[in-house]
Amino acid sequence: MAYDFDLFVIGAGSGGVRAARFAAGFGAKVAVAESRYLGGTCVNVGCVPKKLLVYGAHVADELEQAAGYGWSLEEGHFDWGTLIANKNREIERLNGIYRNLLVNSGVTLLQGHARITGAHELEVEGQRYTAEHILIATGGWPQVPDIPGKDLAITSNEAFYLKDLPRRVLVVGGGYIAVEFAGIFQGLGAATTLLYRGDLFLRGFDGSVRTHLKEELEKRGLDLQFNADIQRIDKLEDGSLKATLKDGRELVADCVFYATGRRPMLDNLGLENTGVELGERGYVRVDDQYQTTAPSILAIGDVIGRVQLTPVALAEGMAVARRLFKPEQYRPVDYQNIPTAVFSQPPIGTVGLTEEQALEAGHKVNIYESRFRAMKLTLTDIQEKTLMKLVVDAQTDKVLGCHMVGPDAGEIIQGLGVALKAGATKQQFDETIGVHPTAAEEFVTLRTITR
Ligand code: FAD
Ligand code: NDP
Repeated sequence: MAYDFDLFVIGAGSGGVRAARFAAGFGAKVAVAESRYLGGTCVNVGCVPKKLLVYGAHVADELEQAAGYGWSLEEGHFDWGTLIANKNREIERLNGIYRNLLVNSGVTLLQGHARITGAHELEVEGQRYTAEHILIATGGWPQVPDIPGKDLAITSNEAFYLKDLPRRVLVVGGGYIAVEFAGIFQGLGAATTLLYRGDLFLRGFDGSVRTHLKEELEKRGLDLQFNADIQRIDKLEDGSLKATLKDGRELVADCVFYATGRRPMLDNLGLENTGVELGERGYVRVDDQYQTTAPSILAIGDVIGRVQLTPVALAEGMAVARRLFKPEQYRPVDYQNIPTAVFSQPPIGTVGLTEEQALEAGHKVNIYESRFRAMKLTLTDIQEKTLMKLVVDAQTDKVLGCHMVGPDAGEIIQGLGVALKAGATKQQFDETIGVHPTAAEEFVTLRTITR
């Protein structure tokens, strides 16, 4: 049977655009439907605008350090409206780039919501299309617990478009987004409290990293409240918000920001017309080649709930394009040793096993850990400490994990990701010549076993 398209991609986000462009490059006839914004979450309400706001907040650090270097600056003034307008302009530029990338690679771009109507059929804005393969790359959406007053809270989606910087913010959650936005709000001048339901935030990260970041954030004056959760939110007469906690305490703020995880975006997608099954947590179930339980339908990215990071969605998109249209180039995605950064202030960079994971997996480990004051701070009064840590297999000498909290952690950890992928040993780290004077060289000069 002749179809309109070889591949129909639903969602022009990180994974969808990558799969579409490469499939078209391999000679396939490809369409992409996008209902909201080109580039998806990452470009519009994720990685990119987030990083721009983090840069904005970081300027406060630079200004604080300037005096130590002889610069006397007049009292600074921050204007949220300027930052948001400039950010919006950049996002629009990127939307245009994504459009060109797709169109120039021969992909048919359809603007509108796509709904699957059969194994090989879809509908976009009332128009019917057929395709041999359908790829679900619809991403995720913020999830707020169902508490009274939840509609008074905002999520990352709205935070990027706030008219004014709130004076007082309650951030709820203890994952990537909560920690990053707490740093943004606080860095830009809002009195910020982070509420996390457990004992210590960033569950799943290395224990030393979690404790170290907690200490550094507290030094910066962030109000961290663990074992704390909101029971209800009410609006007060003056327009501010009162959050009543489960332990009965009441906190008043101008903004309550929820970052309590994301759900797969499957709204009105028409999955009931297919044999696509969902897994336990509601994500689309796929096999190791991204095939759903319906033979003609594949899924990648946040909607499959594996690793919710842009470079992972890109890799999955590439794998699908190759498997379908260039099988001789197909390579499975390697989910081991994925480097990642949390753009908190200071940031975290991490790759490989945490100490806890290594022990749990039965490794005997040597831990190398160092805390030091970065050279840049020595001419200032700032007492922030950088943490670097290596988790090494005591028997094979293989480096199992690298963890860092400190300036440029994300930049530094990328290279260490290559080293771990290549299976580097601690001896090879030791034999690598450092770059001096940098903080990064500490990773090749850690000599003393801490534990
Ligand atoms: P998405 O990028 O979400 O794209 C899905 C697209 O599908 C969307 O454009 C949506 O409008 C469209 N769509 C949905 N349903 C339909 C439909 N039925 N019809 C048509 N179109 C539809 N990752 C990092 O690696 N680094 C970071 O620093 C980082 N920061 C983040 C910060 C925030 C605040 C958030 C929320 C996420 C962040 N992420 C980060 C995660 C990253 O954004 C996601 O992992 C990535 O965007 C997932 O890509 P995707 O292709 O699966 O989905
Ligand atoms: P995460 O899953 O990382 O964190 C969710 C947090 O909310 C956890 O601390 C969780 O607590 C808490 N939580 C969940 N449900 C509730 C509830 N009902 N009440 C109170 N607290 C709750 O989600 P995020 O929203 O922070 O981010 C989503 C994903 O996006 C990340 O996992 C990451 O993959 C990606 N991302 C990546 C970034 C980067 O690369 N720099 C930046 C931002 C996002 P608990 O731990 O107790 O379950």
